[in-house]
Amino acid sequence: MRKRTTTCPRDHSVLRSELRPVVVAGVDLGRFEVWVCPECQRVFDPPETSLAVDAAAKAKGVFGSERDALARPSVPAKPDRAHA
Ligand SMILES: [Zn+2]
Repeated sequence: MRKRTTTCPRDHSVLRSELRPVVVAGVDLGRFEVWVCPECQRVFDPPETSLAVDAAAKAKGVFGSERDALARPSVPAKPDRAHA
């Protein structure tokens, strides 16, 4: 298996691979590998994760619904600062 290095298209940081729970429309689909940018916190799906998430969502009848924020691609996982 060859090692892949993927960089963030926005700031060119090297993405980290993480396992994150993917929840669609309140249905837990399990944990999937996602790539997280350490700089801007954006989340990207590896191609195999996109396929696996789609397949799992179809199996659970939630395909096409919005993912919960933790593992949603291309959206910051958390705000820069908490609203206090
Ligand atoms: Zn980034």
